Amino acid sequence: MIKSKVALVRCDGYDDEKVYAAVVRGMELIGGVSCYIKPGEKIVLKPNVLWGSEPEKCVTTHPAVFKAVGRLLQGAGAQLTYGDSPGFGKTALHMQRTGLKKAADDLGIASADFDSGEVTVHKSGLLNKRFVIANGILAADGVVSLPKLKTHGLTRLTGAIKNQFGCIPGTFKGQFHLKMPDPYDFATMLVDLNSLIRPRLFIMDGIIAMEGNGPRNGNPRRLNVLLFSSDPVALDSIACRIIDLNPEFVPTSKPGEKAGLGTYRYDEIEIAGDDIETFITRDFDVTRRPPVPAASGRMRTFLKNRVTPRPVIDKTKCTRCGVCSKVCPVNPKAIEYYPEDKSKFPQHKYDLCIRCYCCQELCPEGAISVKNTFLGSLISR
Ligand code: SF4
Ligand code: SF4
Repeated sequence: MIKSKVALVRCDGYDDEKVYAAVVRGMELIGGVSCYIKPGEKIVLKPNVLWGSEPEKCVTTHPAVFKAVGRLLQGAGAQLTYGDSPGFGKTALHMQRTGLKKAADDLGIASADFDSGEVTVHKSGLLNKRFVIANGILAADGVVSLPKLKTHGLTRLTGAIKNQFGCIPGTFKGQFHLKMPDPYDFATMLVDLNSLIRPRLFIMDGIIAMEGNGPRNGNPRRLNVLLFSSDPVALDSIACRIIDLNPEFVPTSKPGEKAGLGTYRYDEIEIAGDDIETFITRDFDVTRRPPVPAASGRMRTFLKNRVTPRPVIDKTKCTRCGVCSKVCPVNPKAIEYYPEDKSKFPQHKYDLCIRCYCCQELCPEGAISVKNTFLGSLISR
């Protein structure tokens, strides 16, 4: 059996030269750049830019990691572009705030179009056979994905596979939450997206990861590791091992294996580089239970309201900005927002809510968290 390979390289900070040396070493451990990139190829770098936040907040792939990978690939003769479609709003402003625009400008890497796209048919998709894919992806010969290691309310981990969700431009992303309220269906769609785009290489920024209320409002947590692989399922699985999370609780793992993207089984993964035991962080704050599947039929509303964790607003943090209501994909909205009366806080309507957690993901103040219900916590004990 040929094992999937994941390289782990210790890197204890975001100093440009340190990160570059770590990236060079990681790439050597998985066979060298020339295994993935040929001179003259058009390669698009896809960092994780959920929202334009300063790098210290750890919402986004750090610019030093982006820059190190860009420098190495340019040295190998690649013609680079970069992009991502954030959770809300246009790409350019977000890129500026994250420091990624400056990093790209320093290397002369042009931005790719992630604000518009084309319908692309994916006949062999397990569940979803039609995507709108960003023009910046379609124009490239290949994609190098640069995920950030973070927690996620719906998928537990936002890592290598989830990173490609930003290859779908703007509001087209929200439609998938509506069409696929079941977290396992949503995860299978993410796998389909990956088997369509097929990034060649994944380099995950876990130097300072995010734990707790991720993917936007969690806390930075130092793990001092960069992860390298061409197998996104194995990469996510090893990231899980580092944060002491069962990879089977990440709903992309099993469909990822089924779709032939790779393996999440530890005995089928070869780990190269630094000793994984030195990175394992058992008290990493992540939800260590599987997502609750969406029930169908008459049980659906009952179970959803009594068992499925729900988004809850902390009024002491809420500034009544209305972003939560804007990003809520259901119609009518599952969050009542009162723009004409600023004394009133937005209010969830749980009967309408599909538990996609977009509001939690994108609240700029970290005022929304996903809370277990009383019955849900009894069941999950
Ligand atoms: S997005 Fe957050 S801060 Fe803004 S209104 Fe909603 S809960 Fe309040
Ligand atoms: S209220 Fe929040 S979790 Fe519920 S459907 Fe709207 S965005 Fe999704």
